Amino acid sequence: MDTAYHMLINGEITTSKQTFPVINPATLTIIAEAPIATAEQINTAVDSAHDAFATWSSSQKIDFRKSTLLACQKALEHHIDEIGELLTLEQGKPLKAAKSEVTSSLAKIPNILNYDFFSKTLEENEKGKVEMQLIPFGVVTAITPWNYPVYIAISKIVAALWVGNTIVLKPSEYTPLTTLKIGEILKDVLPKGVLNIVSGSGEVGALLVKHPKVRMVSFTGSVPTGKAIAAMCADDLKRVTLELGGNDAAILLEDAPIDKIAEKIFWGAFTNSGQICTAIKRVYVHQSQLEQLAEILNKIAADTIVGDGTDPTTQMGPLNNKMQYDKVLNYYKAAKESGAKIWGGGPVDGPGYFFKPTIVTNLEQGHPLIEEEQFGPILPLISYDDINKAIDKANALNVGLAGSVWSQDENKAYDVAQQMHSGTIWVNTVHDAHQDACFGGVKQSGIGREGGIEGLKSFGEFKMIYKRKIA
Ligand code: NDP
Repeated sequence: MDTAYHMLINGEITTSKQTFPVINPATLTIIAEAPIATAEQINTAVDSAHDAFATWSSSQKIDFRKSTLLACQKALEHHIDEIGELLTLEQGKPLKAAKSEVTSSLAKIPNILNYDFFSKTLEENEKGKVEMQLIPFGVVTAITPWNYPVYIAISKIVAALWVGNTIVLKPSEYTPLTTLKIGEILKDVLPKGVLNIVSGSGEVGALLVKHPKVRMVSFTGSVPTGKAIAAMCADDLKRVTLELGGNDAAILLEDAPIDKIAEKIFWGAFTNSGQICTAIKRVYVHQSQLEQLAEILNKIAADTIVGDGTDPTTQMGPLNNKMQYDKVLNYYKAAKESGAKIWGGGPVDGPGYFFKPTIVTNLEQGHPLIEEEQFGPILPLISYDDINKAIDKANALNVGLAGSVWSQDENKAYDVAQQMHSGTIWVNTVHDAHQDACFGGVKQSGIGREGGIEGLKSFGEFKMIYKRKIA
């Protein structure tokens, strides 16, 4: 395994005197050192993106942009195994899931490049022409989290560049290596300055966000950091999209066929060890079915193999970092202290950040494990007797990213879906993603959308041109 990782700045592979260790969450050993970008390097990265913008964004360059981004896809396809293995080492997820994250992010590139909406003629006649254009902002800063670092980085890079922006991207300090590797692979595929990758802590991110030459920030991460970024963007009215956390409710209607759907509910909650923004994070189940659901989910949990993601038998890896592990452990302890019934699971003795999938019942709305985003493998089941009360509780929080409703009768479930306050609602499914769908949250789960044509539009703004003959 290559242990030297570099930033991509102004088309050059770049190191830094200061570095930070990247830890394998399964073994707690250091995988590699990653560079900490200096203020000067951040300036160089933004300047170089700024210099590259005029040529890259030119409307004559749309075909060139398309062929270059397809060449990026090809170049990365040669490294799927390498990036996947590195992803397992730095993020913890099972190798199969890691490789699938890489392949799925690359597979969607051609579809993104099929959206051609750079200019739309609204009127053309003897009076002249009225045209609406989508124009790029200029330099975009993208900041990504540690749960799906490859998928989120590739999605932001491709969307921002296709619209004609240039980009400086900062990955999370917990999972910088795959993104740095992507930068190295793309160094000779993209023109100098079009893509820059810098690493370091949140301070590096803040310097990028505040940089006066940055015109748009595309952020995925937690609600508190999203709010801090929005505040920084307010100073010079930078455009910003925020894909933030949620606390997704699954509502099981009284007729939900528990035995048929339990497996889907389980993996909807525990895939990636629960570290998914749209993971099922609380389940509202009719009181007549609570025990049955808990028993079945707990049985699946007990049979789930938790371990090092490099072991091919592993189904669930560790939590990604100590901060997240401690957070989940605290919710677990708080649930126990509140007299909740813990059906099994719980923390596993070290060295890695392993936590077995855990089902919890006997908690009331208001408990932190229900009201806050656990982002980990501990799932509260809350019983209800009146569906309207369950819907009210699902909607009661100040976040609304996604949710799901489950019933024998998909029309009845659809009626409930209509009443839920979230950016996405799935009926009798979860984590379903249509290739043209957009994605994002309502309330404090974010601002704007990513994915599909709506997501691409967030990487630009509209300009109208009225061309008239002098009468
Ligand atoms: P954080 O908000 O802690 O960090 C996200 C990124 O922001 C990291 O790169 C981080 O850098 C950087 N950052 C931290 N502080 C600042 C700052 N002041 N200015 C600029 N950048 C900063 O989130 P996590 O990485 O912990 O991710 C988990 C959260 O992300 C969960 O709440 C989850 O729900 C949400 N999420 C949302 C998704 C969505 O699409 N809605 C998808 C995936 C996750 P560093 O790590 O180096 O400190």
